[in-house]
Amino acid sequence: YSGFVSLVGRPNVGKSTLMNCLIGEKIAITSSKPQTTRNKITSILTKEDLQCVFLDTPGIHKPRHKLGEYMVRSAENTFKEVDLVLFLVEPTETVGELDRFVMEKLENVKTPVVLVINKIDTVADKETLLGIIDTYRKLYPFQEVVPISAATGSNTEELLRVIRRFL
Ligand code: GDP
Ligand code: MG
Repeated sequence: YSGFVSLVGRPNVGKSTLMNCLIGEKIAITSSKPQTTRNKITSILTKEDLQCVFLDTPGIHKPRHKLGEYMVRSAENTFKEVDLVLFLVEPTETVGELDRFVMEKLENVKTPVVLVINKIDTVADKETLLGIIDTYRKLYPFQEVVPISAATGSNTEELLRVIRRFL
């Protein structure tokens, strides 16, 4: 299996942490401040049966100026060029404005999109998680939904299995 995977989600959702968790090395920069990853950071995951190039997609935001428009277009183009988009969200039923904006952009591409609900280590119970999944399923026809914790590594093996299916 080999291919390109784009990671998208609002700042602080855990994109860099997930990449670090999967790659097992500190490549992307994590920070409590949003948008430290100014450039598209590419990392490569190589396993016995899998080689996967990850594109950390910054710059998805509601554009307020020309440079912003350019960054959003660049992120949108990335969606078209990859085999799979991983859309990371916080484990909450409150869908942010930016999350809705990203889903609007994703509707314009044919690339499969997997919803990755991160930080499930902070979710109180299974009912809460099912509620979140339900909320997002109603908003977008995700190919698959995978709840994970990038910080603890919980369920990330399942995410890798899902990634393989789309490569
Ligand atoms: P990015 O902006 O999307 O790249 O987000 P980062 O990877 O930089 O993570 C933002 C913050 O969320 C950091 O403080 C991480 O430690 C924290 N974080 C990331 N993944 C998890 C997780 O699975 N659980 C918890 N509790 N915190 C996480
Ligand atoms: Mg980051």
